[in-house]
Amino acid sequence: MEDNKLREQDFLVASISQLSISGSSSPPVVARFRSDSLLFGPESDSSDSVQFDLSNCEGLVLSQNSIFNRFQSIEKTGKDKTFFLISIVLFKLGPFQSLCISEASEINKEKSYSRGITIQFRNEEESRAFHCAFEQWKKEVVVQGSSLPNGILSSSRSKFDDKIEASSAKMYFHYYGQLLHQQNMLQDYVRTGTYYAAVLENRVDFIDRVVVDVGAGSGILSLFAAQAGAKHVYAVEASEMADYARKLIAGNPLLSERITVIKGKVEDIELPEKADILISEPMGTLLVNERMLESYIIARDRFLAPNGKMFPTIGRIHMAPFSDEYLYIEIANKALFWQQQNYYGVNLTPLHGTAFQGYFSQPVVDAFDPRLLVAPAISHVIDFTSAKEEELYEIDIPLRFISSVGTRIHGLACWFDVLFNGSTVQRWLTTAPGAPTTHWYQLRCVLSQPIYVMPGQEITGRLHMVAHKAQSYTLYLTLSAKMWGPGAEQGGILQSSSGKLDLKEPYYRMSQPQAYPMSQEQQPSQQLLQTQDLQIQSQDEEGSDLLQQTV
Ligand code: SAH
Repeated sequence: MEDNKLREQDFLVASISQLSISGSSSPPVVARFRSDSLLFGPESDSSDSVQFDLSNCEGLVLSQNSIFNRFQSIEKTGKDKTFFLISIVLFKLGPFQSLCISEASEINKEKSYSRGITIQFRNEEESRAFHCAFEQWKKEVVVQGSSLPNGILSSSRSKFDDKIEASSAKMYFHYYGQLLHQQNMLQDYVRTGTYYAAVLENRVDFIDRVVVDVGAGSGILSLFAAQAGAKHVYAVEASEMADYARKLIAGNPLLSERITVIKGKVEDIELPEKADILISEPMGTLLVNERMLESYIIARDRFLAPNGKMFPTIGRIHMAPFSDEYLYIEIANKALFWQQQNYYGVNLTPLHGTAFQGYFSQPVVDAFDPRLLVAPAISHVIDFTSAKEEELYEIDIPLRFISSVGTRIHGLACWFDVLFNGSTVQRWLTTAPGAPTTHWYQLRCVLSQPIYVMPGQEITGRLHMVAHKAQSYTLYLTLSAKMWGPGAEQGGILQSSSGKLDLKEPYYRMSQPQAYPMSQEQQPSQQLLQTQDLQIQSQDEEGSDLLQQTV
């Protein structure tokens, strides 16, 4: 099958010499990765090459992730069914020199055969690239072990593919493969400027360190890390943007020799060394959208040395109830279309309820005035250095607020910030309302049924976020408050309003006129409210969304 074909790669190296044989091949010499062998030799003449042969392998192919990058397979030769254990080990002798040793030992016997060669690279960059390719080859040979006769796979569908629908991933990486979307992020100067400051103000964390840029995109953060003096940066990017990143980095020659772009998912690729620090911009709307934080955590577990640093270090989701009559009316009115009883002679009302709920299932993304918030915000912290990946599959946040005003609450407003916990400077990147606007704006979950509160009244509830296979979350929001009025002191009635929203389908409201010149006291005109009051009345009559419970 075409898909199963291994990528073949040739590396031009300066020279090689066999440990057992005196003399060395004269340049140019090529190192060749094949599906069934690793060859070293003159560019033209393959008869004179050193070959580590896997073609006779039969049986189990194992990969052992020892510090020596050990690759093992069980090989059967000839008809006498002797099983061999083969290992190919790559040692780095110096910046330009490596040693490759192949060892074959007959299973259950003392006998073993080994051969080795030293490889002289032309420069450090080519040495690194070769080591990267070796890691990749090792992995591909193992993953595609079934292409060896009777070979058995030891692994390994990627963790990413298990969690994420292929169609979603395809669209996602197609999106990030386009320069215009990278430009959009680069032009968010709050975002990019904060990263720049966080990296360059914390040079000590980068100087002479190995850095991995998780989801490098255009490569901008890798370039920042190199500017800050990183010894080497591995820029890992899964989309086609990796090719553009290479081009951009190559055009910055003072930095490019310390950056290697690796095209692939952090879940799949291999690196030749551990990182001292990870840098990444994995935040989506509401912090967790796109589910890239999980990839950031997987990258930590796979590539970060013990006690290594992470930029950003922690993230926080902030939440507060808000009151916004204009927004509520705008959303409720979108479904009015379906209230027509004579649309070209057709009664549309059977779909009104569905359309109404549909509009409220879209989280609203825009920049709002912080004066719309009716209680101090609470926050949920995610520590990237210690969180488990699985902890992000389901996030359950209990809510409790004290309303500072008497008003109608229309839902929950959310934003996030992340901390770069540098050794010199701690810097926050915030997307809070009132702070300079970022391309994330803020997010509001609007409830189809507002709740009424008095000043000082307690609001309780829950935000339950469940990850789904389309790289996003389903949000279940409930807000409750005791009814006020006679009897409230003695227990009263609980008004509770719930909504189910899909974070994947936000309503981008930024193109709408941003009309917040009025103060909180100035309420929308009675005329504007009329439709909505009708709406609420009819809902109340049906008792559809307002759950009334005695407490
Ligand atoms: N670091 C860049 C781009 C950030 S956008 C910047 O700050 O400007 C996130 C990038 O991560 C996208 O380009 C996306 O394609 C990439 N990405 C997302 N998940 C990934 C994964 N699992 N492996 C590798 N790259 C990934």
